Amino acid sequence: MNYSEKFRVKPGGTVRLDKIDAAFKGKHEDQASALGEIERYTQRLRELQYLLYAEGSRSLLIILQAMDAGGKDGTINHVLGNMNPQGVNVFGFKVPSAEEAAHDFLWRIHQAAPHRGQVAIFNRSHYEDVLVSRVHNLVPKKVWSKRYDLINDFEKNLVDNGTHILKFYLHISKSEQLRRFKQRIDDPARHWKISASDYSEREYWDDYAKAFEAALSKCSTAHAPWFVIPANHKWFRNLAVSQIVVETLESLKMEFPKPTVDIKEIRQKYHLAEQEEDAKNGKKPKGKNRK
Ligand code: AMP
Ligand code: MG
Repeated sequence: MNYSEKFRVKPGGTVRLDKIDAAFKGKHEDQASALGEIERYTQRLRELQYLLYAEGSRSLLIILQAMDAGGKDGTINHVLGNMNPQGVNVFGFKVPSAEEAAHDFLWRIHQAAPHRGQVAIFNRSHYEDVLVSRVHNLVPKKVWSKRYDLINDFEKNLVDNGTHILKFYLHISKSEQLRRFKQRIDDPARHWKISASDYSEREYWDDYAKAFEAALSKCSTAHAPWFVIPANHKWFRNLAVSQIVVETLESLKMEFPKPTVDIKEIRQKYHLAEQEEDAKNGKKPKGKNRK
């Protein structure tokens, strides 16, 4: 099934999160049956990212947003963690520092945008400024309500400069969130993940859902689409995200760049054919260029 199409939020369309099944599993019954497919996509992702890096002309920005415990960290680890670290940067956006808060809300984001050949992954993003800021009235409505257009313009600017943008909302149900919080409470190795605000923010679930719905429908554009990924099942989330990233990178029709040196000349100058022949016959190399 083509998940790019299925989960993409149509530009201008309305989104009702409570109508979208967070436990959707597609054709696979369980993780075991999906593993082979996930493995193929993550492997292909690695190859394509290498190509993006080699080509050095375009870039990819992946934005992850979710309710608390929605699986942003897990997605980075399992799906995107397979890419070559040299070409990937992960940024987590927290409560703005004093310096960040003294600038416009896109200032810190723009600095983290990927440069050519790179992949940038945002764990939270400028969307916090129309989510938490809206839910908790951190700024007045007349300020946050203008931000949707500002975000669309900002993203358009990045796209016009060669960045491909994919935005994933990892959709979990309210009961799944509670189950994950409980796991964190019960497992000492996960205690560090539970924060004081997790349970208190949960009380704002409906407000967050409304804020997400607004962001998803106002900011899913042809140039920078949002995808709502059913994420109760971590393996399904991994499958869908990796498939969509792979399809996007495939569509770029990337090619390894032409060599900047004359390969034929190097072959002749350093007698590469003879060296290979000698090596095959077990002969010792001779001559000053034969190491
Ligand atoms: P975590 O990702 O769990 O480490 O938490 C980061 C916290 O930073 C979350 O509570 C976010 O809502 C908060 N945060 C991120 N960006 C902003 C922002 N622009 N304004 C206010 N809070 C933010
Ligand atoms: Mg948290």
